[in-house]
Amino acid sequence: MQNGLCGVACACTGVGDTGPSLLEAHVADWKNRWEDNAGGTAVISGKKVGFFVDKECILCSVCSDAAPNNFRMSDAEDHDICYKQPDSDEELSQCNEAMENCPVEAIGDSGE
Ligand code: SF4
Repeated sequence: MQNGLCGVACACTGVGDTGPSLLEAHVADWKNRWEDNAGGTAVISGKKVGFFVDKECILCSVCSDAAPNNFRMSDAEDHDICYKQPDSDEELSQCNEAMENCPVEAIGDSGE
């Protein structure tokens, strides 16, 4: 085991890795989302977004660090959730950063 880009112990080696990796292993699945996500959608600068966390979350806190106004640990303390959709360009940017940096791709955007 070694640490890849995200700092989580796993089999990936980060940049340049051509083998199996957590970064390629999963795409967030709206049907597998946690029920305690805020849900809903928001429109920011003409873009509709609807962030959610699915049940692949490993509770690493990357998202709540990147977007503290939108992601936090669930009340059950065993996964993170999107507790509020973004309501500004700054929050949208932070949510996108959280989604891009989630090490297991547990964050999705159902807004299209
Ligand atoms: S970044 Fe991904 S794995 Fe980490 S707490 Fe957030 S949703 Fe869970």
